[in-house]
Amino acid sequence: MCGIVAYIGKREAYPVLIKGLHRLEYRGYDSAGIALLHKKEMNIYKTKGKVADLEKFVAGNDTQGHMGIAHTRWATHGVPNAINAHPHCSGNNNLAIIHNGIIENYLLLKKALQKQGYTFKSDTDTEVLVQLIDYIKTNNNCSLFDAVQTALRKVVGAYAIAIVEKGNEGEIIAARKSSPLAIGMGKDNEEFFIASDVTPFAEYTNKVVYLKDEEVVRIRLGESPKIVNLDKTESEINVEHLNMSLSQLEKGGYPHFMLKEINEQPQTILDCIRGRINRPATDVKLSGVMDHMDKLLSARRFIIVACGTSWHAGLIGKHMIEEFCRVPVQVEYASEFRYCCPVVDEQDVVIAVSQSGETADTLAAVQLAKSKGAFVYGICNVVGSSIARNTDTGTYIHVGPEIGVASTKAFTGQVTVLTMFAMCIAKMKRTISKERYEKILKGLKSLPDLIKEVLQYGNKIKDLSAVFTYAHNFLYLGRGYNYPLALEGALKLKEISYIHAEGYPSAEMKHGPIALIDHEMPTFVIATSDSIYEKTVSNIQEIKARGGKVIALVTKGDKFVSSMADYILEMPYVDECLAPIVSCIPLQLFAYYIAVQKGRNVDQPRNLAKSVTVE
Ligand code: GLU
Repeated sequence: MCGIVAYIGKREAYPVLIKGLHRLEYRGYDSAGIALLHKKEMNIYKTKGKVADLEKFVAGNDTQGHMGIAHTRWATHGVPNAINAHPHCSGNNNLAIIHNGIIENYLLLKKALQKQGYTFKSDTDTEVLVQLIDYIKTNNNCSLFDAVQTALRKVVGAYAIAIVEKGNEGEIIAARKSSPLAIGMGKDNEEFFIASDVTPFAEYTNKVVYLKDEEVVRIRLGESPKIVNLDKTESEINVEHLNMSLSQLEKGGYPHFMLKEINEQPQTILDCIRGRINRPATDVKLSGVMDHMDKLLSARRFIIVACGTSWHAGLIGKHMIEEFCRVPVQVEYASEFRYCCPVVDEQDVVIAVSQSGETADTLAAVQLAKSKGAFVYGICNVVGSSIARNTDTGTYIHVGPEIGVASTKAFTGQVTVLTMFAMCIAKMKRTISKERYEKILKGLKSLPDLIKEVLQYGNKIKDLSAVFTYAHNFLYLGRGYNYPLALEGALKLKEISYIHAEGYPSAEMKHGPIALIDHEMPTFVIATSDSIYEKTVSNIQEIKARGGKVIALVTKGDKFVSSMADYILEMPYVDECLAPIVSCIPLQLFAYYIAVQKGRNVDQPRNLAKSVTVE
């Protein structure tokens, strides 16, 4: 999932690249490295650990140069150490490469190169690629640009790469397939930025070119970039305009991005529904739906493909689409869908949900669905991302950059979009009454205020979390619309506090997990007032009868659950189909504060990374 960034221009490259790496660190932080070109020399510094470790490592060394490449790694091949850190060099140290992705046939290529006398320092697939480029360049006596194209024709796998050559200080070659790559265009071709996403250069330029799959670009100072694809045809340069402020990329006074992003949710929900629901809340329109209504109305079935938190949003979407549109919905893990020989055809609509729009498994599921003739709808956050570009239509969630690795505001944005999607279709199908439709739209509009109210209980949740830092295991229970939320609450706790947690539909507890209940195993029950509230009350009684500790999230004014549970968190009343968008906030805060109290690195939890561009 690594983050790559490169710069060429008039500025000192080192500070630009380091700042860029910090912005990309959500993509991986096993090791970091940088190559700087200056006066025909190339200085390379790499170290295990984070970008801050790299800065310490480099301190006092020569960091001059107006051109360089840098990398923050999430290891796929070879342990995270300094040797396996990028940039990787050719044997003669003339070429240096940074890479995000996996070269699947690297072993075959490595053996072939070893036969030619090449030796390797690292265990990475990336080093094989740079040596292959060097081999082709040396043997064919061709330019670096040509050698990269020839090499990539031999490669199976995914890559976003940038390559520089010692002594060639005016040129960077970059390419991509399946991993994202954006080029920031400085004024009058006087400087260029290359990065995994736009955050490293959004403060310097608002002009961006997104490289397409199998395109290779030659960037030279003073010239317009030259883009060719692997069959050598030249592509037009399509410059797009960015609309991203610097404050969106920084912590804004919060100790962590995750807390900032949790607190942003009243605003992000507003941004998500703005211009889509009319002022009196009597109508909702998503252009992605309106422009393809025939296709969507005639769908025999919807298949939602997603991973992780987005998959949980998909489960809520299924409940909503089935309840209001009366069309069957299947929710699939994208990683399973693509390999399970799915029955999909042109009568199906596949909905791909991904925050980054770069999730490799979801992207592959999209491609598979398209190859089988299905119509594909994308729900992404990152504008211009691969999934956004590879789907037939879709809706952006518009929640702004999500930097914290644990997804929060993207989840509520995804559920909000899925709700609006269901409403648009239900209205056209006439499967929802006018009263219910308008009640839900009004409910959607009231969400920012309701979330603000819940956020005010932050300190109470913080105190409560202090009680449970001892726990090694946690159970989360919910039913109906709250069941996916139980999964999401458990996932949040696992990923940032490293406490083992499982989410279950409340009634399933008696079919197994109830055996785990004792005074050391707390249960977090989402027990808001809904159509199955009474059943949830019985489930809580079953836990209490076995000595379990219960934290319950209830609707304000609740009587029954409040009298049974050990700890109570309250939230305002909201229609049950919208409840997850509000009730996830206490769950996010609970996981956040437990993780902080346990001293975890909340924004960059161990072993994880955002924007999962590997399978
Ligand atoms: N395969 C490369 C490595 O392990 C890059 C990994 C990635 O992009 O996640 O170093």
